[in-house]
Amino acid sequence: MPMTTVPEKLAPGVYRVDALGVKYAISVFLIAERDGWTLIDTGLPGSVPRIKEALGALGGDAGTLKRIYLTHHHSDHIGGLAGMAEWAPAAEIIAPEREAPIISGDQPPDRSENPILRAMTERQQVPTHPVARTVREGDTIAGFRVIATPGHSLGHCSLLHEGHRLLLTIDAFGQLLFGIQVGVTKPFCSDPAQARRSAKKLLDLDFTVAALCHGPLLRDGAKDRLRAVVEKNEW
Ligand SMILES: [Zn+2]
Repeated sequence: MPMTTVPEKLAPGVYRVDALGVKYAISVFLIAERDGWTLIDTGLPGSVPRIKEALGALGGDAGTLKRIYLTHHHSDHIGGLAGMAEWAPAAEIIAPEREAPIISGDQPPDRSENPILRAMTERQQVPTHPVARTVREGDTIAGFRVIATPGHSLGHCSLLHEGHRLLLTIDAFGQLLFGIQVGVTKPFCSDPAQARRSAKKLLDLDFTVAALCHGPLLRDGAKDRLRAVVEKNEW
């Protein structure tokens, strides 16, 4: 069978996977550790076969997928959670402490400041799934430090690997159609002003490569490019 999902190596043991057939539209990440694999985010429900295939191409399988970490509760990040958890029932499900009760259905999703988005999300049925463990700023997931970057969603977190100088911005930055923006785009942010403060906070970290969940991998001048985005998005 031809390989349709080729994982992109970001650093030793750290891979980016396209959760959709369109490159860089929705990225999830696979990280190898001594005891097995950690999956960061799960894409949409239809992403499950692609993620399984990518893990298989890297030599992993359901038994070696040890952890599934959800960065925030939006449906393009947790959509594949049920499918992945069914496939790898022993994998521990982890999320930031403020996102976990939303993912598990104990609290409603963030209330958007944007009235159109609010009307859309209030009607939307968000898939829910139990979360076994929560993390907060300063905790470590698969060698990455959890950095609280609220604003895109109120419990949103980014991830920094200090050894690799690799930042996973998650949705603190992202590209829909019109270039990279703070929080992917202002209407998608639960609190746009807070999202901008969080984006600015990331510029103080030590990194040379930045990966976004929506948008290109930044290998050259990553920090300068993100700084220019923060300066442009004055909300
Ligand atoms: Zn999001």
